[in-house]
Amino acid sequence: MNSPIWHPFTQHGLGEPIPLVTHGAGAALFTQDGRRIIDGISSWWVTTHGHSHPRIMAAIADQAQRLDQIIFAGWTHEPAETLAAGLRAIMPAALTRVFFSDSGSTSVEVALKMALGFWRNRGEARDRILVLEHSYHGDTIGAMSVGARGVFNQAYAPLLFDVGTIPFPATGAEQATLDALEAACRAKPAAFIVEPLILGAGGMLIYPPWVLAEMRAICARHDVLFIADEVMTAWGRTGTLLACEQAGVVPDILCLSKGLTGGAVPLAVTMASEAIYAAHLSSDRSRMFFHSSSYTANPIACAAANANLAIWREEPVAERIATLATRQRHHLAGLATLPGICDARSIGTITAIDIEDRAEPGYLSHLAPRLLEQFRTHNLLLRPLGNTIYVMPPYCIDEHDLAALYQGIAEALAVVSR
Ligand SMILES: *Cc1c(COP(=O)(O)O)cnc(C)c1O
Repeated sequence: MNSPIWHPFTQHGLGEPIPLVTHGAGAALFTQDGRRIIDGISSWWVTTHGHSHPRIMAAIADQAQRLDQIIFAGWTHEPAETLAAGLRAIMPAALTRVFFSDSGSTSVEVALKMALGFWRNRGEARDRILVLEHSYHGDTIGAMSVGARGVFNQAYAPLLFDVGTIPFPATGAEQATLDALEAACRAKPAAFIVEPLILGAGGMLIYPPWVLAEMRAICARHDVLFIADEVMTAWGRTGTLLACEQAGVVPDILCLSKGLTGGAVPLAVTMASEAIYAAHLSSDRSRMFFHSSSYTANPIACAAANANLAIWREEPVAERIATLATRQRHHLAGLATLPGICDARSIGTITAIDIEDRAEPGYLSHLAPRLLEQFRTHNLLLRPLGNTIYVMPPYCIDEHDLAALYQGIAEALAVVSR
């Protein structure tokens, strides 16, 4: 391997193989050495309808013939206008404004800047952000600041800003979370940012809709802006278009990215309430929203997202999600009976298990690479989060491939626990 590429979240010193993928279709990826890999994690939570989905690919090809890219400050284009209108039609009505960016992390940065701009333009000194313990909001400095601190960001800690951390609402301890949030809100922070119903990178930690609803109500009572980071949870992952729906929650600011284009090309939006937009609206240029990236609302990416929305409108996506959710729960029940497995859990199309931690600390750091190796030999794309194994496939996965995924997990567990 003489590639100059430095891969993300990869320790090249371990010399693990890095397969070359040549093409993908549905829930399968194909490697140069002739293997068919089942994508059990939607290529890191992005692919919803399947790889190289014909409708999305056609929309990209078509748009590429018309307009590739244009500055979005002071200019607009049809794919962005169509997408913004399409989002307005399916997202909560109170979220009247659509701001484009290009990744989940930037959608979070934009949300934080909107929140601070809102308070500044209203003449109130509010700048503290509240976060939930174990949360993950991205890898840029601001997004890391509002995420959990750990080995992932230790080196950068001196650059991260201070936040107020609310304990995770573990089963039986929900009231402590709500009390802590209420107390923190009394100090007039700017905003509370939260991953609705399931904390992804923090270990697929699930909490109930009523807690989300209560957290939202507390923020509303204290005039604290409520930011829902649905970068992972949106587009059906938790069983509904938005996870917030299950709690009857409408945030002040909503972050969307991963499944926005069906997972085909990078794009993100931050949707905001009219009040947040209005706080920036003025004839005074110093009050405008000071944010842009070069590829804001890239026309080709917007065309891909419009194709995603068309698939949601015209195909039985909700039925596919419901079917997958049922199958996922069935397979999870099988895994849960295996020795050494604890905390089998699921929400919508996502399942997760923890492998019991009976060994010395540090043992688990050896477990994840051993599991990865097993998954590789079974031609499965799965990527444990520490001692948590989760399955989050594209909605088009068939029962045969899904069964193969769970069979592979069971066999991998048998090998690593020997
Ligand atoms: C993945 C993720 C992000 C970051 O998105 P990127 O596109 O990787 O920058 C932010 N928030 C949540 C909840 C995520 O799962």
